[in-house]
Amino acid sequence: MTQHTTHHVIRVKRTAYPQLQQAVASGQLQPTQENLDVMDQGQVYQPVPQLLNAQNLVHDRELKLGTLTIAGEFSRVPEQEHTSIITASLGVYRQYPGVYPLLTALLVPMLPADEAAWLAGVRAAVAQGRQLAAGADMVDDIWVPTDWLRDRTRLIGLAGDWFIVLYFAQPDRRTVPEGRAVVGLDIGLSPLATAAAGQQQLATWPVAEPTVPAGEWAEVRALAETLSYAAARAALEDLMVHVLPQAGTLVMEQIDYVKFRGDFTATARRRAVADFHQSWMPQRAHARGITVMRVSPAFTSQICSQCRAHTLGTRQGPTFTCPQGHILNAHFNAAKNLVRRYWGQQARARRLT
Ligand SMILES: [Zn+2]
Repeated sequence: MTQHTTHHVIRVKRTAYPQLQQAVASGQLQPTQENLDVMDQGQVYQPVPQLLNAQNLVHDRELKLGTLTIAGEFSRVPEQEHTSIITASLGVYRQYPGVYPLLTALLVPMLPADEAAWLAGVRAAVAQGRQLAAGADMVDDIWVPTDWLRDRTRLIGLAGDWFIVLYFAQPDRRTVPEGRAVVGLDIGLSPLATAAAGQQQLATWPVAEPTVPAGEWAEVRALAETLSYAAARAALEDLMVHVLPQAGTLVMEQIDYVKFRGDFTATARRRAVADFHQSWMPQRAHARGITVMRVSPAFTSQICSQCRAHTLGTRQGPTFTCPQGHILNAHFNAAKNLVRRYWGQQARARRLT
């Protein structure tokens, strides 16, 4: 039996491309026919053992793969996985001092004065420079520790771009889910996600995202982005902890992030919710024996979930109101409609058989 794992795909920054091309030419990265089940297209490369055996996270934006320096946003993985990379890299991994209080400051709403103080704190941390870290200080430790499977690391070349895929052992595995509820999960930007389990409504807590002034030094901007991402991740992980034990089936929206106009996609990526929705939540659910269903989100925010008939309502800010007098949280209404759509599909499937 193969080991159950989670995987995370990180986009490699362009600065690393020449090194990777050279490594392919020199045979340090070898093309393989492995089907990673991660991307539909692209050429998979397996690093030679000397590289695989010498991997360390130098800091959150740089991974050493033997002699290769891979630049990318390596904190864009769930907390459990992030912790395991850092733990495996202790003695090498560097982090700016005082990041944990800067992170927790984002977990409560901020006033403009708080934002200014926070940004001053980020600048001060960057001014001190990255220092050898004693442990993972941007995580809540809500998950069971896991192992970073260094030997499984692969690179993918796709249409001129490069991606690195990191693998982790999945310890909290179950074959039968703990819960039985059909849980609908609505994805948004504020709140980031709302779950409906029967009449129970669960949503992520609000996360502050201070504005970084244009012209701010790139390092300050980068740390501010990493912290905002980590704060959003904490809120999403907390929701996952509450949802997973209840769910037997998880109903999620089908979202094509590439097709969205405006800045929804950019914001969803910056606030971790795109990663959560596309990768973390389905992987965690599968590992716990939960069935993941994807349904179309069309009209789920316009139809009343409480009316038996197909009634269209109106949305004003966070509130949904239907002509029959039902008033409820707009995101909860959408999440309930996902569940209803799932039952509708089940009923149609039963009639067909
Ligand atoms: Zn209604």
